[in-house]
Amino acid sequence: MKERVVALLVLLAGLLGFWLGQPFSEARPAAAAALPLAGKVVGVDPGHGGYDAGCTGAGGACEKALNLEVALQLREALEARGARVVLSRETDIALIDPENTPGYKKRKELTRRLEIFAAAEVDCVLSVHMNEFTDPAQHGAQVFYQTGAPESETLARALQASLCAFDPDNDRRANAGDYYILTGTPASALVECGFLSNPEEEARLLDRDYQRALAEAVADGLAAYFAAP
Ligand SMILES: [Zn+2]
Repeated sequence: MKERVVALLVLLAGLLGFWLGQPFSEARPAAAAALPLAGKVVGVDPGHGGYDAGCTGAGGACEKALNLEVALQLREALEARGARVVLSRETDIALIDPENTPGYKKRKELTRRLEIFAAAEVDCVLSVHMNEFTDPAQHGAQVFYQTGAPESETLARALQASLCAFDPDNDRRANAGDYYILTGTPASALVECGFLSNPEEEARLLDRDYQRALAEAVADGLAAYFAAP
């Protein structure tokens, strides 16, 4: 009789342990899988830096600085969706020493960025830039893909759709171009976040809340790209 009670208690303890173990062992992977960019490694490239300032806004905004601000916000937005983010630069630097780099400096600098993304085995690359044009009325974010690269085009269209939903006044379409930074990883796109040559858009792009909302739109677009069959 005593053995049967012990056996029953052992059985009940086992069942209790099993029951207690269930929620913990199942809930964690399920929660991680629910994040849309879980398991993805995203290369984020804040365009220009150091000796290369990029373009200058109508009111004097500096492209390289804004690219970095938006890229850092984009990192947060992507990490919140479960991605691991690799930045090509996190401060105002160029990845070469322009004084001691013979030949085509820009190309060699971009090669260093591509090497960082290749070493991290990124699943995609988002290069962040600001646009400019002679006509100050031009406005709106526009995404570029590498000519002849289907994954780049599909990604650019998903990002553009999300950016147009974010800004109903934006009717721009994803466009093809030839960008060396897009040639390392099939799913690569270059995001021109808006026109610094447009004073109103320049003011918006300098605003941290706007930068964050824009970064969220880019992150949503990337999630839509990976969710598509
Ligand atoms: Zn640029």
